[in-house]
Amino acid sequence: MFDAIVIEKSQSGQHVARSEVTFAALQEGEVAVDVAWSTLNYKDALAITGSAPVVRNFPMVPGIDFAGTVAESRHPDYAVGDRVVLNGWGVGEKHWGGLAARAQVPGDWLVRLPDSLSARQAMAIGTAGYTAMLCVMALEEQGLTPDHGEIVVTGAAGGVGSVATALLAARGFRVAAVTGRASEGDYLKRLGAASIVDRAELQGALRPLNKERWAGAVDVTGGALLANLLSMMKYRGVVAACGLAAGMDLPSSVAPFILRGVRLIGVDSVMCPKSERERAWDKLSRELDLALLETMTTEIPMDHVIETAPKFLEGTVRGRIVVPVAG
Ligand code: NDP
Repeated sequence: MFDAIVIEKSQSGQHVARSEVTFAALQEGEVAVDVAWSTLNYKDALAITGSAPVVRNFPMVPGIDFAGTVAESRHPDYAVGDRVVLNGWGVGEKHWGGLAARAQVPGDWLVRLPDSLSARQAMAIGTAGYTAMLCVMALEEQGLTPDHGEIVVTGAAGGVGSVATALLAARGFRVAAVTGRASEGDYLKRLGAASIVDRAELQGALRPLNKERWAGAVDVTGGALLANLLSMMKYRGVVAACGLAAGMDLPSSVAPFILRGVRLIGVDSVMCPKSERERAWDKLSRELDLALLETMTTEIPMDHVIETAPKFLEGTVRGRIVVPVAG
């Protein structure tokens, strides 16, 4: 038996509890992993609270990512004792996830943990931080450099936003951090933000075009906020969009695209090809200041996972949350 958070659904609704689960219940996969650390991401909060249909089959162990050590392997690339990290691939949605002491997955879903990162640090980065790196890579693939101008990061005090702010500032970009929480201004400055923008400033009436302000953007919000950002991008600006914290819709117009050549790049971490994941994790291990990462990180025990999840939906989580799973 192993320790896990389990989501069940019955006629009376969804029930989530910490319980003991039998190894035999694990889904098929060539590699069994002793999970050491997991984390909570926005999507885990949606799954645990049941506020969006993230979970596709029940019972489900949530946790879209984990880091740990290979316990059994029938995959040629992995041997017992290898340190691995997993993000996405439907884990925690349709395949049992990381908020459990044991996971079993296809070996091709795993990425080898870079030597310089502990399992705890890997989960402090987690899917949020790995997605932040995918966003930064997307901006740079479009040729964006610090000379082009300021980069705006939305949801800056959250998980993706905090890591994106730190990564971009470390590369010499001037970062404008958008937050709805004025109280997080000092925190964001410590991560490297050059200026703090009140979220309300970007939630005004929508216009096809506004004064040109930013060369690039990492957006975790979607909705009217993303539409406003698009209208404020400089000529040939680049927006990496990865989230929906403000909404699924995009009430924009084609004006930024056809009159300013603005580029809107979608970023998905879940089905991202393995080679790109490996590149992102390698870059994270070399470029992210681990002392700064620690300042973004809060540790909670397994027993607090269920009560902490709603805080993501309230937008009150700062940075990243890690959960020790082993033992
Ligand atoms: P967090 O909850 O840690 O951060 C989200 C932040 O967004 C909040 O901290 C808050 O920041 C801001 N925010 C919250 N509500 C609103 C709102 N109504 N309007 C505007 N801003 C708001 O979540 P994550 O950083 O982990 O994830 C952010 C988004 O990215 C989520 O939508 C998530 O689903 C998505 N995501 C997508 C991935 C992909 O593969 N495409 C992978 C990972 C995440 P502040 O208070 O500073 O304004």
